[in-house]
Amino acid sequence: MPRVYAVVNQKGGVGKTTTAINVAANLPQLGLSGLIVDMDPQGNTTSGLGIVRSELSRSVYNVIIDGEDINEIVRPTGVAGLDILPSHRSLAGAEIELINLARRERRLLYALEALRVPYDYIIIDCPPSLGLLTVNCLVAAEYMLIPIQCEYYALEGLGALTHTTQLIQRELNPRLKIGGIVLTLFDPRTTLALQVAQQVRAQYPEKTFRTVIPRNVRLSEAPSHGMPITQYDPTSRGAVAYEELTKELIAR
Ligand code: ADP
Ligand code: MG
Repeated sequence: MPRVYAVVNQKGGVGKTTTAINVAANLPQLGLSGLIVDMDPQGNTTSGLGIVRSELSRSVYNVIIDGEDINEIVRPTGVAGLDILPSHRSLAGAEIELINLARRERRLLYALEALRVPYDYIIIDCPPSLGLLTVNCLVAAEYMLIPIQCEYYALEGLGALTHTTQLIQRELNPRLKIGGIVLTLFDPRTTLALQVAQQVRAQYPEKTFRTVIPRNVRLSEAPSHGMPITQYDPTSRGAVAYEELTKELIAR
């Protein structure tokens, strides 16, 4: 059975996609196989792994809306040992289309259950909302990996996420739990970042990963080259941090 993580936070720009890509890319180096699922219509995970979305004929959209065979649509990435279920712009419409479908909250779960490849880890990159696409992610996952950007309003959004999580645990997925909280875009030169980090740790002492992801320009450059940081600049501070984070996650 794969361990399924949803990288989730309804705020945009907090490092979900960067975390999904770079944790997933570290798995093969640690002897583990992975599948990354891009559930964001913006498709930054897909393009960030070097896949040209306009050339894709089918995507996760066809899997969850049309019920097409996931095994036919999963494809390799440039990282050996890491496959992807790519996203497509059409997924933007899925938020509405799902409403009228049977078992609308479980479409991704059923698709993942039909996978023939026994992956060690499945990492799902969620869109920046708490709509039906994210609900599908949280029903399919056992663990939430929550990136928190070290800034003023960081903790404010956690209330809404906690509320959604409780509803999903009660109604749809009792196994769902917080796998970990990761502090991202950390700039140690600002007092604010230090304060937010301290606050998050005080509130979630067990859940917050020891590893902190620094603000590192190499991490922001890598996606435009279609590479994870492990390939783009494996000795950068960002690369070292994501390797440490992945090790910590696996050890939990
Ligand atoms: P989300 O998926 O939550 O919207 P992203 O991972 O796409 O967030 O990150 C938002 C932007 O910040 C992107 O341009 C990304 O390249 C950049 N970014 C993310 N993490 C870092 C980091 N640790 N250092 C520098 N830039 C980062
Ligand atoms: Mg994203």
